[in-house]
Amino acid sequence: MVGYYPRLLKLLKEVDIAVRPEDLTFAFSRDTTSRRIPYLLYNGLSGFQGLSVPSTKSYSKAFFEILYHSLCFIYLCIISLLHYHLHLFPRIKEITFEEFCQRYYIPGVFVREVLVPLYSAVCTCKERDVLKYPAGLIVGMDRKMDCWLMVDYIAAVFGTRHYTIASPQGFRAVVNALISPIPSSNIHTSTSISRISGTSCNYTLHSGTKTFGPFKHIILATPAPISSSILSTTSTVPKSLHTALSKFKYIPTLVITHTDPSFIPSQPSLQRDLHFQRPIPPVPSLRKLSQYTQATHILHYRSPHLKSTEVYQTTNPHRFPKKGTLLSQTWFERYLPSLESLRVRREVFEGPAQGAGNMWFVGSWVAEGVPLLEGCVVSAEKVVEKLLASEV
Ligand SMILES: Cc1cc2nc3c(=O)[nH]c(=O)nc-3n(C[C@H](O)[C@H](O)[C@H](O)COP(=O)(O)OP(=O)(O)OC[C@H]3O[C@@H](n4cnc5c(N)ncnc54)[C@H](O)[C@@H]3O)c2cc1C
Repeated sequence: MVGYYPRLLKLLKEVDIAVRPEDLTFAFSRDTTSRRIPYLLYNGLSGFQGLSVPSTKSYSKAFFEILYHSLCFIYLCIISLLHYHLHLFPRIKEITFEEFCQRYYIPGVFVREVLVPLYSAVCTCKERDVLKYPAGLIVGMDRKMDCWLMVDYIAAVFGTRHYTIASPQGFRAVVNALISPIPSSNIHTSTSISRISGTSCNYTLHSGTKTFGPFKHIILATPAPISSSILSTTSTVPKSLHTALSKFKYIPTLVITHTDPSFIPSQPSLQRDLHFQRPIPPVPSLRKLSQYTQATHILHYRSPHLKSTEVYQTTNPHRFPKKGTLLSQTWFERYLPSLESLRVRREVFEGPAQGAGNMWFVGSWVAEGVPLLEGCVVSAEKVVEKLLASEV
């Protein structure tokens, strides 16, 4: 079972990149003391390995909390699977996650303590943005309409495993494999395209100092707002396309790698692959990350390549690691879907906008589902198929 990534895993196989299954485990915490004791521990394998709570709780409290969360989890899985496989609840695709939880009686404590922080980390957004997220993406979409990749996160990943790139080079190995057939003279990294000139079948791309072309087709793999700004420089693109692109909102995300263990519980028995820390007011320089769940991945926990080094990757930190422990930091912009952007995606980018004037769009925002790498592969495959068909 390949879960949420069938096309991505197929692509990796095609370019001979090995993956290693990793059954990720999670810890949820709101404790801001130096011990960072989690309130709930998830032991992996779609819940088959059970939940636990720290031994600081009384036996009866621990028993009831595990029972409560287990029953809520089973109930949620049943609803998601019924919807995904039998299309029993078609309205799910028209409502937000908050409306879904209310309408389908998902217990409030489970929503607040587990689902919201989990999806704030998975979708790298504020906790309140999770509530406004289209429920269909998290819970289930209706698959009967056509051949879109109608996926849902809970049902599609249920009973499946997480995967990681086996090579010590990580994703760099994938990039190298993908670009190996392309002559290096045709690869231009760190080259920001600011303008397009020419007309259909005869386009030129402009960066600050260089020009590239002529090209018959242009495939924009840039975030929607950047595509809008590049396309605003050419008169061949209708205003309605800019209006459509403006419906795709992006939000900031910071990823840091470091060697500071103070981001995870101090007690080894409470450590899991991923430590979700509930939002607290961040330091002033990270104000943009208010209300985000802080997620710390213990990279050396399972990696066969990091036996002698302790390395952590924290996404959306509330503070910086101790001086001298920061290895790298990168800000990203990530697409935040809404019910409106899903509609525009379906009506415009699954339809007339693709290929008009030989302009094409790919990326996670052009595909169905939570914006992940799978959507990049799926949207790229579709564009290649349509582009080749248009050439026949
Ligand atoms: C912290 C974090 C963790 C994630 N973890 C996972 C995960 O475990 N699994 C998963 O599947 N997905 C994960 N994702 C999501 C995944 O990374 C994104 O869905 C994916 O990268 C989106 O790809 P994209 O091509 O749509 O956009 P991007 O990756 O944003 O690519 C857009 C590209 O356009 C380039 N660009 C921008 N402006 C210009 C310009 N003017 N000229 C030329 N080029 C330009 C940018 O440099 C960039 O390379 C994660 C995302 C984040 C932020």
